[in-house]
Amino acid sequence: MLEKKIFILSVMFFMFLSSSLMLAQDKIEPSTRNMNHITWQEFQELVPGSIETVLLPVGSIEPHGVIPNGTDNLAPEAMAKDIANRLQALVAPTLNYGVTPSMAAFPGAVTISADAYLPFIKDVLRGLAANKFKNIIVLNGHGGNTALLQKAIPAVSLECRVRILVVNWWDLTLDITKEVFGENGGHAGNNETAYMQAVVPQHIHPERFDKDMALPNATGTSWFAAPVPASIGLYAKGEGYPTFDQKQADEYFRQVNDRVAELIEDIIRRWDKAKLYK
Ligand SMILES: [Zn+2]
Repeated sequence: MLEKKIFILSVMFFMFLSSSLMLAQDKIEPSTRNMNHITWQEFQELVPGSIETVLLPVGSIEPHGVIPNGTDNLAPEAMAKDIANRLQALVAPTLNYGVTPSMAAFPGAVTISADAYLPFIKDVLRGLAANKFKNIIVLNGHGGNTALLQKAIPAVSLECRVRILVVNWWDLTLDITKEVFGENGGHAGNNETAYMQAVVPQHIHPERFDKDMALPNATGTSWFAAPVPASIGLYAKGEGYPTFDQKQADEYFRQVNDRVAELIEDIIRRWDKAKLYK
């Protein structure tokens, strides 16, 4: 009798093992995670059967101290590329223009009006939802987009029954910034400069740096100016100047990306567990 039970149990265990192996085999590995490079046929084979998540970098083109004007695009784009495998995600084309009226006076900057940005970002999100992604992860590189993203996300999520997460990486990693640099960061400060130095070291220009480029952000409503007179905005007075240290840059890049990936994994796990829009 006992032998029979053991036999049945082992058969059941073997069936369970082979079915889970089959499930694992059913997932197709993409030839690329870049949505710009993928064909429609492969896309159809992958989404949503094998891939449920898309990473959408959004940014802006605006001045950043002595690092590229496109920092707010290049940073989340590099981040998406770096964490896409770990998250089994595709990477959508970056939204390279954003809302930056306060910085628009600087050479090379372009600002999009809120009236144009909001319906545009909503349509991009609707389009990704219509393509059957379950999880849309917006990797935002630019603070000026945040208020509009906060408007767009709940509305599109409800309308399309899709899960959307927005990550503002520089805010999520304030503690990592303090740990790596021993102080607070800033817009185009130590944190953003280091992140970019890890991505495009050839486009970082310490020889152009002058401390006068940096200004502590105004507290509360103490003052505001148009145009903003500095392209480096320090979170705290006397802290956050760029360090231009390659080793620190590479370490920061790694830690920031790990933190962002951890957050995304955790949020998706919670959505799954609660069976929201499953
Ligand atoms: Zn920036």
